[in-house]
Amino acid sequence: MYLVSTRNMLNKAQHENYAVPAFNIHNLETIQVVMETAAEMASPVILAGTPSTFAYAGSDYLISICQQAAEQYRIPVALHLDHHENIPDICNKVISGVRSAMIDASHFPFEENIRLVKEVVNFCHYWDCTVEAELGRLGGQEDDLIVDAKDALFTDPDSAVQFIKATGIDSLAVAIGTAHGMYKHEPHLDFDRLHAIRQKTEIPLVLHGASGIPDTDVRHCIDLGICKVNVATELKIAFSNAIKQYFLDNPDASDPRHYLVPGKAAMKAVVADKIRVCKSDGKL
Ligand code: 13P
Repeated sequence: MYLVSTRNMLNKAQHENYAVPAFNIHNLETIQVVMETAAEMASPVILAGTPSTFAYAGSDYLISICQQAAEQYRIPVALHLDHHENIPDICNKVISGVRSAMIDASHFPFEENIRLVKEVVNFCHYWDCTVEAELGRLGGQEDDLIVDAKDALFTDPDSAVQFIKATGIDSLAVAIGTAHGMYKHEPHLDFDRLHAIRQKTEIPLVLHGASGIPDTDVRHCIDLGICKVNVATELKIAFSNAIKQYFLDNPDASDPRHYLVPGKAAMKAVVADKIRVCKSDGKL
């Protein structure tokens, strides 16, 4: 079974007022958790990998595991290139089977962002791969990239219209006050801005940095037009905290088939919870 693009899943989510969760995965175990939970809950799902996750696991290994997971669970699954910046790297991964890509050129000036994104769109659409791009800039840390809060920029609704038209992207990641990683202060999302972007645009909108955002706020974003919700940090924390506790309780443990089990169970609870918040359960 092959990996699908996000076209059908995000269009359906947009029309039916829910969001498809995109969970960052890192290895076999985290892929197993996401796929098993999504299949049990009949939820469409996106497996997201940053450049350093692909580098860590090995691109071919990672793509093969995800293809195998799609086959095993018999649900359409998109493996998504999260925050990729290097165009030849994106092209190689698309040729290897990936059908969903984010080109993150949001740190470049507007015109350069458009130029780079357009180049990726031209290539990806030829391969039937959907493209997400970001306008504005999220604060926090994602992968090796750290953006100071003072450098974060909110998405301007009129620029979003221009950006979508000029690039031909399939979905737009908006900056409305979320950040990558956990929040040091209570996040205040700019719902009016999201509403304005939704009013002026037609393609699916994406919320990055959903870890630590209250469920009611995520739900409100979905009601205002968010169709894809990205979650990474909360999964990593649940997974690693449970394993740390296991080692405290079992200091002599050494078998990964034992000590990874509680990590997977804790991560599974978060995945299930986020699927419910996204209202994507039963939407297959
Ligand atoms: P969090 O780590 O804040 O959940 O953000 C994930 C994300 O946006 C991945 O692109």
